[in-house]
Amino acid sequence: LDPTSQRLSSEELDIERALRPLSFDDFAGQDAVLENLQVFVKAANLRGEALDHTLFHGPPGLGKTTLAHILSNELGVGIKITSGPVLDKPGDLAGLLTNLEPRDVLFIDEIHRLSPVVEEYLYSAMEDYKIDIMIESGPNARSVQITLNPFTLIGATTRSGLLTAPMRARFGIQSRLQYYSTELLADIVQRSASILRVPISMEAAIEIAGRSRGTPRIANALLRRMRDFAQIKGNGKIDIEISRFGLRALNVDAHGLDEMDNKILATIIDKFKGGPVGITTLATAVSENAETIEEVYEPFLIQQGFIMRTPRGREVTELAYRHLGRVPGGNQGE
Ligand code: ADP
Repeated sequence: LDPTSQRLSSEELDIERALRPLSFDDFAGQDAVLENLQVFVKAANLRGEALDHTLFHGPPGLGKTTLAHILSNELGVGIKITSGPVLDKPGDLAGLLTNLEPRDVLFIDEIHRLSPVVEEYLYSAMEDYKIDIMIESGPNARSVQITLNPFTLIGATTRSGLLTAPMRARFGIQSRLQYYSTELLADIVQRSASILRVPISMEAAIEIAGRSRGTPRIANALLRRMRDFAQIKGNGKIDIEISRFGLRALNVDAHGLDEMDNKILATIIDKFKGGPVGITTLATAVSENAETIEEVYEPFLIQQGFIMRTPRGREVTELAYRHLGRVPGGNQGE
């Protein structure tokens, strides 16, 4: 049960759904993104048109799926949800597309994982709301073009670098989500605690927020575990003592770094003398995909000041040495 892991059980998924903000007003942070989206939604509503196709990119757990739901609510339309790896045949996509009501939202998570045939099929649907479908079979089989209701495709990806250029060009609105500050995460923790009906002190909310890797999903997951500790080991209230106890028991890193974050830092220090090291070399050394390091791990490590990007590669900072309890410069004698 690793609270920082982004893989959730189905029961936890239900709780996550309950904690999901439903309107622009409930959504904390990402101000610049939200301000623009509010304008585009108002304009689309005013004209009675479908919102332009929208792409959200950024690390997991920052609110991409949540925003897709909020957009459908604010547009007052339905939403259908699928993901790149699930759609393996154009036929699956055709089924979804032909069932969309005017202005509906089709949300495709992990859109960088669409197969090339499905992706190509999507192009004309996105561009002029037309698709070709095969009717009948055998010698009578033929393809006919049908016109779809105008709809909004919302794509989400953690790996914008992997999206093809033609795909990306078809999104009129593109927004990158940022990591959240501790203050914002503390607000999110308090809001979630009130939905879960568990009392929490401000100090405890800030403590949990500071250990959540800038990520609402992790903050909510930690909150749920702290609720367990409070109920079983405490008096039901999440105060600072019970959260310190719980976070220690779960081995949550003081900065909220996860295993891969720490592995990256330790590897740069131990194998590459603190850097600089190129991203592909580093990726091989930690057995992770270079794109994932660049798009999921590195942004947080840079934002928190553990890593610097230099023209010659990545370098760790003194903070990283201190975090891992190492001495900059290597051996004790130096
Ligand atoms: P993503 O799709 O980017 O992986 P999600 O939209 O599934 O992330 O968000 C994960 C969880 O984090 C959601 O269930 C929601 O409760 C919470 N969350 C995300 N962003 C916010 C936010 N800005 N305000 C409040 N809760 C949020």
